[in-house]
Amino acid sequence: MGFQLSELKLMGLARHRQMLWSRIKMKLLLALPETWKKAGFYGKAHYCPVCASHIRHYQPFGHMTQSWCPVCASMQWQRFAWLFLQQQTNLWDGKPKRMLHIAPEIAFEPRLRRIANLDYLTGDLCNPHVMVKLDVTDIPFADQSFDVIFCSHVMEHVPDDRKALREFVRVLSTDGWAVFLVPIRMHRRTDEDLKVTDPQERERRFGQHDHVRFYGWDFEERLTESGFHVTVVRASDRLTAKQCEQMGIHAKEVLFYCQKQL
Ligand SMILES: [Zn+2]
Repeated sequence: MGFQLSELKLMGLARHRQMLWSRIKMKLLLALPETWKKAGFYGKAHYCPVCASHIRHYQPFGHMTQSWCPVCASMQWQRFAWLFLQQQTNLWDGKPKRMLHIAPEIAFEPRLRRIANLDYLTGDLCNPHVMVKLDVTDIPFADQSFDVIFCSHVMEHVPDDRKALREFVRVLSTDGWAVFLVPIRMHRRTDEDLKVTDPQERERRFGQHDHVRFYGWDFEERLTESGFHVTVVRASDRLTAKQCEQMGIHAKEVLFYCQKQL
């Protein structure tokens, strides 16, 4: 939740001031005990699958209404990913696994740490609170070191994303799986230009001041070319409109479930 200089330059914009306020509120709420928040925000309209809380409404983030959970701070795409992890993967089967979690989500990390027999490792290039400082384009682990990799909203920051994806393939075990999420426009092709470095131009074109591209439907191609077998999982295929509304998940959310090509 730190700020970069390039981000501070954008604070003159109303949207960024709203986001700053959202982050401050998120940080304050995260410091409170979960039982207090579950009671204080209790309501029947919504249910967060990450923290299993019934809540009145989700909190806005910038221009996004109904975005983050006031109890666990999960965002809409994180709730979709968590639901998928719970319902469609072997993460909770109790068998020993090694997991690499890149740029760990605040809502996920404490819950993943509690999974029995999960040898859990967090990694990031910038976040000082992770277990291992690492560059995803040069992962400091041997081949097939992990059975599970979770990497959400990271690749859009990485200039050489293809190199990073090849590294993920390398460190994944032959029977392991990886989940990737990125900001994406599935109706368009990826818009990428590494020469664009101005924060405002990046924000305009790629959606955020520190993004180097805006992915499109061809993200799947990059995963496949890197050595993954890919299953595209769309919220609209898995959840009804009512479930999306209840859990605060956009129907357009999509995640990429990947296994190593054998
Ligand atoms: Zn929650």
